[in-house]
Amino acid sequence: MTRAEAGCLFFEVAPDPVDPECFSVREAFLSPDAFAAHQSRAANSAWGALTRDFQRQYEVLGMDEAVSDDETWMAKALALADAASAVGEVPVGALVVLDGEIIGQGFNQPITGCDPTAHAEIVALRQAALAQSNYRLPGAVLYVTIEPCLMCVGAIVHARVARVVFGAREPKAGALISHPKVGDHSINHRFEIVEGVLSDVCGQRMSLFFSTRR
Ligand SMILES: [Zn+2]
Repeated sequence: MTRAEAGCLFFEVAPDPVDPECFSVREAFLSPDAFAAHQSRAANSAWGALTRDFQRQYEVLGMDEAVSDDETWMAKALALADAASAVGEVPVGALVVLDGEIIGQGFNQPITGCDPTAHAEIVALRQAALAQSNYRLPGAVLYVTIEPCLMCVGAIVHARVARVVFGAREPKAGALISHPKVGDHSINHRFEIVEGVLSDVCGQRMSLFFSTRR
């Protein structure tokens, strides 16, 4: 069951996979104020009364309002990550932005696309290069929810992307910060790296995805 609520990015109620008598509630709020308003409203509502005696997992995926352009773009990349998980792919989303406009976007799709190279970043870079009619994207910024892997770092270098902004680190396969040595081949092109933008939410997408698969 899902429903939208003002101030709420999503609201989802589902039977607990372990105990169907229990409900699991997931909500994400646009701001702490929206969350506080929801809490006081729910306490006195029919919904609050109905669920008061249920043992339930109540997980709040709080999300502050965007405080920077990077957060605004990352929130859009997160929507793409959700598109990936909707089709059973690992939730990673990416955007290429040039002069304040999206010129490429993609989500992770190697399984559905039967394409081992169809990571979110590669999909977004291909679209951006086509849009520019140029295999190089000087001045472009790549936003991606999770630290890029070695293959994607290679593509970023080849595309001459100026800046890479990512959310959460990928301790196993991340090739920018987690395993920077493997990224040393980028000697012929340097780019700015920004990490940790909406990292909690980006990381939560991954852990939620994998927790439902266990
Ligand atoms: Zn990759």
